[in-house]
This record gives sequence, structure tokens and C-alpha cells, in this order.
Amino acid sequence: MRIYGLVQDSIVDGPGFRFVCFVQGCTHHCPGCHNPDSHDPGGGTEMSAEDVGAELLKNPLTDGLTLSGGEPFQQAEDCLTLARLAHSHGLNVWSYTGYTYEFLRCQGTSAQQALLDEIDVLVDGPFLLERRTLSLPWRGSDNQRVIDLAATRSAGTVVLRPD
Ligand code: SF4
Repeated sequence: MRIYGLVQDSIVDGPGFRFVCFVQGCTHHCPGCHNPDSHDPGGGTEMSAEDVGAELLKNPLTDGLTLSGGEPFQQAEDCLTLARLAHSHGLNVWSYTGYTYEFLRCQGTSAQQALLDEIDVLVDGPFLLERRTLSLPWRGSDNQRVIDLAATRSAGTVVLRPD
């Protein structure tokens, strides 16, 4: 998989201490994106999902995995491998995406839908510069939603995670 960067002990990409996998490659090209260097699918570094997973498991204090980018759902199969590994070690899984939940659920590939089924919390939607906010936790613009996917799967309708 193509990797933009790996961060241990983030406290800004979800609750607790998080291992963040910033994937390389994103076709959304949101104006004002904070990570434009992550857009080129040929940039970054090639790593196997197994090697990224070994980094994930290095720190026993880690509470969870966050998939960010770049666009995690454009490397859905490798991100699914990481998400399954995290869950098998008792870690929760958050993911950012520039797609909406509804797009991924209704029009996503089988790998993207499998990844949706493995994620606990999804922060969805593109970054919209005109709706930029610094006052909402976990997201950059107020069109983005923090979706509790476990509750959403149970309810059959989108359930937001309380801030
Ligand atoms: S989806 Fe994320 S990484 Fe991709 S352009 Fe938008 S803000 Fe940047």
C-alpha cells in the first residue's frame, strides 16, 4: 500500500492515543486540503499492510487505529487488513473519508463496503473550505459527520456519534 506517513500517539484524530495511518493518494482534491502532498497516488512510500500493522502494534498504550490520508477508501483492501488486525488486538478503528457514507454504502466497491463494515467510527465527506470550522472536534468543516457505524449498522439509519 502507498503510505504518506505513520504517526504514533496522536490525540487529534479520534479519542485516546491513536496510531494514525495516513495513506497516499486521493482524487477528491478538496480546495484548502491540509495534506495536498498526499494526493499523488504514486507519491509516498510503498509498505505492506503487514509492516504497517507491525508498527501499529508496537506501542502497548495505543487505544485505536485511525485511517486518514489521502483517501483510505481508495486503498480499501489494505485498509481492511489493518482494521481487522486492530480489532483482533482490541483496538477501535476510526476512518476519515472524502466520500459520503451513503455513496460508499450504495455505490462503493465490495472492498469499500467490507471496510465500512469493519470500521467503528467514520468521519465522512469532503473538506469544504467555505464551511471550515475550528470549533467541532475531529473534523475540519461542518458538513463532515462523525458517524457511529456500529450503531448505524444496528439501527439501519445513520447514527451520529455525540461530540
Ligand atoms: S478527501 Fe481529505 S485528503 Fe483528500 S483532498 Fe479532501 S481533505 Fe484532502
